[in-house]
Amino acid sequence: MASLTRKLASKKQRTLEILIILKRLYPDATCSLHYETPVQLLVATILSAQCTDERVNKVTPDLFKRFPDAPALAYADRETLEGLIRSTGFYRNKAKNIQGACRKIVEEFQGEVPQQMDLLLTLSGVARKTANVVLAHGFGILVGVTVDTHVKRLSQRLGLTEEKDPIKIERDLMKLAPQPDWETLSISLIYHGRAVCQARKPACHLCELAHLCPSAMVSLPGTVTGQPPAAIA
Ligand code: SF4
Repeated sequence: MASLTRKLASKKQRTLEILIILKRLYPDATCSLHYETPVQLLVATILSAQCTDERVNKVTPDLFKRFPDAPALAYADRETLEGLIRSTGFYRNKAKNIQGACRKIVEEFQGEVPQQMDLLLTLSGVARKTANVVLAHGFGILVGVTVDTHVKRLSQRLGLTEEKDPIKIERDLMKLAPQPDWETLSISLIYHGRAVCQARKPACHLCELAHLCPSAMVSLPGTVTGQPPAAIA
C-alpha cells in the first residue's frame, strides 16, 4: 500500500514536470478546430472523428455558411449535408449524428448545447471525448481529460497509464494532473504528438520530455545509447 502511494506520488510529480515543459513548448496551444458557437464546435468535433482537424477546417466554412445553427442543421436536406461533409469520411453516419444531435438540441434544449456531461452524452454521436472538448472549449468547463489518439499514445509512452481504453486512460490522467490543467495537458500532448512524438517515428532525440519518459530511446546521462532512461516510476 505504502509503495503504491509512493508510486502514485512520484507519477504525479513527473506529470507536473511534464506539464511545465509542455506549457513552455506550446504556450498558445488551443483547440485547432474553427468554430464560432458551441453548436459549431460540437459539429466540428463530431466531424473530426477518424479525420484530421485540418481537413475538418476545410469543410466547415461552407457547411456553417449554409447551415450556421442547430435548427438549420437539424432540418437540412440530408443529401446536401452529406455532400458538404463527404471528405471527412464516414459522412453518412456523421450527417445522421449531426442531425440527430441538432434536432434534440432544438426540441429538448431550447436550441442551446447543454452544459452538463450527462446531458451531452444523450446527443447522437457524442461520446465522452466530444463532450469534454465541447465543455472545455465551448464553455470553459473542465470535467475530464480529452483522450484522443495522440493523448492515448503519449500517455502510454510517457508511462502515465497502462490502460488501453480511453475512459480508463482519462481516469488515470485525472488522478495525476491538477484539475485546472486537465485540458491543457490534453491539448499540449496533442501538439507534442503531432510535432515530436508521432505514431510511427517518435523523435526521441529531439524530445524535451525524454528525461521523463520511460519509452525514450536516446542517450541520456546515466543511460546506454538506444536504451530508455532507467528507473522512471
Ligand atoms: S521521449 Fe520519445 S517516446 Fe517519449 S514522449 Fe518523447 S518522443 Fe515520445
